[in-house]
Amino acid sequence: MVISADGLRPDVYLRSDALGLKVPNLRRLVSSGAFAEAVTSVYPSTTYPAHATIVTGTLPRKHGIYSHLASLDPTEKARPWSWFARAMNVPAMWDVARASGRKSAAVGWPVSAGAAIDYNIPEIWNPALPDPYQDFETVARHSTPHLFEEVVRALGPLMAHSMEPPADQAPALQADRLRVEAALFLWRRYRPDLLLLHLIVYDHQAHHYGPLARESLAAVEQTDSEIGKVWDTALQEGPVTLVVLSDHGFVPVSHEAAPLVRLSEEGLFARTGDGKLRLKRLGAIHAGGSFAIYWLEEPKAEDRRRLERAVTGLESTGAIAEVVDRGKLERLGADPDAELILEAAPNYYFSDRFQGPEVRESESDRGTHGKLPSTPGLEASLVAVGPGIATGKNLGRVELTQIARMLAQQIGLATDILASDAEPLDLS
Ligand SMILES: [Zn+2]
Repeated sequence: MVISADGLRPDVYLRSDALGLKVPNLRRLVSSGAFAEAVTSVYPSTTYPAHATIVTGTLPRKHGIYSHLASLDPTEKARPWSWFARAMNVPAMWDVARASGRKSAAVGWPVSAGAAIDYNIPEIWNPALPDPYQDFETVARHSTPHLFEEVVRALGPLMAHSMEPPADQAPALQADRLRVEAALFLWRRYRPDLLLLHLIVYDHQAHHYGPLARESLAAVEQTDSEIGKVWDTALQEGPVTLVVLSDHGFVPVSHEAAPLVRLSEEGLFARTGDGKLRLKRLGAIHAGGSFAIYWLEEPKAEDRRRLERAVTGLESTGAIAEVVDRGKLERLGADPDAELILEAAPNYYFSDRFQGPEVRESESDRGTHGKLPSTPGLEASLVAVGPGIATGKNLGRVELTQIARMLAQQIGLATDILASDAEPLDLS
């Protein structure tokens, strides 16, 4: 059983007392299993590339999920995300399970739509809708045939309640409750050999309120109780290996920068007769703490000069810590298509706003991720407990790429199907 608690920083289990956190289940896991002090994420340190790394054991350049968004066109209104497993270039954990005749299940797992998962309720929504948490229709359509309907029947009143949650409750909180109940139903009913569960309430609150805000810490405690529920239920059914992990950490922000304002001023986007911006030669994807820029067609010398001017101008605002060039992107195993990625300065994050000031005080977000995985605060988490796993073992700092092979080994699967060349992780 793998629970990914999106954005969870390891300090919530390493320093829970200092943070005033009541996380009895995480503490119980740490003392009875193996844990990492830090897990180095990927670049950009965002949910979709990182989750693809967790299940493949490879960096984005190899697995092919370079960013959360699937479209490079920033003028497109509702950009689709990288939802579909077919976009991955290498085998994932579920492929390993299937090749070995084992059953897998997943609930809310990123980049899993259409995957070779036996019981799958993927994370997917219609980007044109205002509230993705309520878009059950799209989820149902991309789930294993009839499975979503079966889960709805089994969950009964809880499901009905969640489809119309009270106005004072974070929708992400309701979404997590549903995901947990759905996962436990699949566990009891089908007893898969591998179950992947993705919880999102901490990420949601940490973006809005900041990584260590009262509301975000409450979300950690909520997640802790969900973890406890999953663990206790699973243990009632027999021995189980439980892995709690995350995809990246979180850093605080106070200011929002909008590189597209400068890029469009430099004429890198076309303005049509109605005043609307249209894509010209440049594509872009914002990822919170980083911002990727792409040439969509071979640039002319004048285009290159315009981009250089725009970047220099952006640097003068103080919002940029670093311009990550193609050489460094290659060393990081990051997006091969990006011309460059802007790395935000401390306390800044990027949006895809075209209008208004280049930099302003943040109106909505107090936390972000997406920056270089070496950024303090962006470390991901890993705790594992189960048969053959040492008690209270400190793994120190490990890499996100090391997790897939470890998972395969825990289930007793051959690891050679994975394209991962990461060092094996010894939990015993
Ligand atoms: Zn995430």
